[in-house]
Amino acid sequence: MKKSRLFILALDGTPFTLLQKLFREGVMPNLKNLAEESVFMQMDSVQPPVSSSAWASFMTGKTPAQHGILGFVDRTPADMNWYIPNAEHLRAKTIWQILSEKGKRVFVMNVPVTFPPKPVNGISICGFLGNDIRKGVWPPEIGTLLKARGYRIDADTEMAKTNLPAFMDHLFTVLEKRLETMRFFYKQERWDVFMTHIMETDRLHHFFWEYFEQGHDLFKARFMELYRRIDVEIGRILAEAEDDTAFLLLSDHGFCTLRYAVYLNRWLTDNGYLFFRSKPPAGLHEIAPLSRAYSLYPGRIYINLKGREKEGSVEPGTEYEQLRSELIIRLKTIMDPSGRPVVKQVLRREEAYPEANAEEIQRLPDLITEAFRGYDLKGDLGHAALFNKTIFNGMHTDDDAFILAKDIAVAEERFSIDKLFRAVEGFFE
Ligand SMILES: [Zn+2]
Repeated sequence: MKKSRLFILALDGTPFTLLQKLFREGVMPNLKNLAEESVFMQMDSVQPPVSSSAWASFMTGKTPAQHGILGFVDRTPADMNWYIPNAEHLRAKTIWQILSEKGKRVFVMNVPVTFPPKPVNGISICGFLGNDIRKGVWPPEIGTLLKARGYRIDADTEMAKTNLPAFMDHLFTVLEKRLETMRFFYKQERWDVFMTHIMETDRLHHFFWEYFEQGHDLFKARFMELYRRIDVEIGRILAEAEDDTAFLLLSDHGFCTLRYAVYLNRWLTDNGYLFFRSKPPAGLHEIAPLSRAYSLYPGRIYINLKGREKEGSVEPGTEYEQLRSELIIRLKTIMDPSGRPVVKQVLRREEAYPEANAEEIQRLPDLITEAFRGYDLKGDLGHAALFNKTIFNGMHTDDDAFILAKDIAVAEERFSIDKLFRAVEGFFE
């Protein structure tokens, strides 16, 4: 029968290759069975492969250059202040708004960049950019209900810094709240599209990925247990699903072991491109006027450009182009403490985002630095060392997300997450 409703489950940061491994080891039998009767393949993330950017692309069908979300932080060059991009900064309508306008009933829970909430024909529960559930939901009155049910927007990652075993337990608790809330609304709401996003997988990977890969006694078993728990829930959803339901499961990026955090602003300072008024600098506004370049996470390089940055020092035109060319060459010479190269390539913004129009291109970083696997290009200001190992032991990759599509048409050739918007829109036409 023709399917008329769509159930979407998002596992943030779950790699295609990890699922293949978990299938082989018998950890996810329900998902494995579903994959065998579905389109199941590897998918690309976006540039940069951060959750805000990738989910914004899924929801709008645009690339980061077009929708305007290029990371967890951004800056206003005229006053050199930070801000955290959220739904208000999205430069395109979301699939939830579009389907609502067509009269479809929408349920969407925990997807990044849905805060602050926008009106939908149904329910929208914000993801991790919101911090008070009562302000993060549409319609507003369900905030009180969620609060009373003990719903959690996100895990408390601060806990990981002091007590990893307790943080692992906490991830299971938060996941349970999410699944319980999903079941509650799945039963009682009338919906055409129902999307639940699970962030706990991403949080698990950031703190436990290396333990899993190395076969740590306790953490490897617990890592697999979290996936087993998700698989049990998938089995329940499939058993209870009506005949009219199609399924779409996906992640937004892959994961790998983090070898080193690399502090590009340290490198720019050590190499005479960046100066601060005070040490340690309190923010971008403390970048001294002589500076020529600075960086934001991940690997975004901005030229301190006259007429754009508050105290720009680099002339547009020849000087700007010469500086970009020089940085492209010099950034590639960065070596890690064991002598391995860190930077895979450095692209000019017009090369990295050829789809961007003249207006969009003006908002983009001047250079985009892409590292080899395992190097996380941080944007901290005034960090003491160029390289560091931190509590984080997993990091995102741009090439190992997954897509599983049953009874919804998707392209057969490899594609990136922004292309799924069209698949979802097309399903309802
Ligand atoms: Zn992440």
